[in-house]
Amino acid sequence: MNRGILFVLSGPSGVGKGTVCAELRRKLPELVYSVSATTRSPREGEQDGVNYFFKSREQFHLMIENDALLEHAEYVGNYYGTPRDFVEKTLSEGKDIILEIEVQGALKVREKFSEGVFIFLMPPSLNELKQRIVGRGTESQATIDHRLSVAVEEMNLLHHYDYAVVNDEIDQACNRISSIITAEHCKRERF
Ligand code: 5GP
Repeated sequence: MNRGILFVLSGPSGVGKGTVCAELRRKLPELVYSVSATTRSPREGEQDGVNYFFKSREQFHLMIENDALLEHAEYVGNYYGTPRDFVEKTLSEGKDIILEIEVQGALKVREKFSEGVFIFLMPPSLNELKQRIVGRGTESQATIDHRLSVAVEEMNLLHHYDYAVVNDEIDQACNRISSIITAEHCKRERF
């Protein structure tokens, strides 16, 4: 059986990775989604095990010590990481998996999975990105400012990726990602 393909969807905070990923899950139910662990508190409506595995700092450090994470990163005061076993198991079952993670984590995955496919989700403009971060309305001013400055730095890391997808409209962005997935399968087709 062929191994599945690892896709990484990354890009600056506020670009709409979560929304695009949720739409992709609806449109491409055969694509497996990796649920991350985080020390951030749940936002309203978020469920443990569905949106994230919500962990204390101690629990998270234990996961790092036990080498249970494929990558992890500190982002705006909280830890985020990808549980390793689930990714390995999914790929060995021949299924594709998608990781929706921030840029530093994506670069770490790139070092371990050179055969992975790395997609950078871009805002239509920097101004639009600022409006999206401010408009979410769930964060304090200090967090917004921090996310904005990180987002500007992250935009400069685009050249590390295989593909850039502009998120001007969710449906369009999903169609582009879906085309990338198809193209990557065609690339690996063998007799
Ligand atoms: P949020 O707090 O808005 O849910 O996520 C903050 C950032 O962390 C987003 O850019 C999101 O993509 C990223 N993120 C979510 N899960 C992971 C993960 O497992 N690893 C890394 N490195 N980043 C993640």
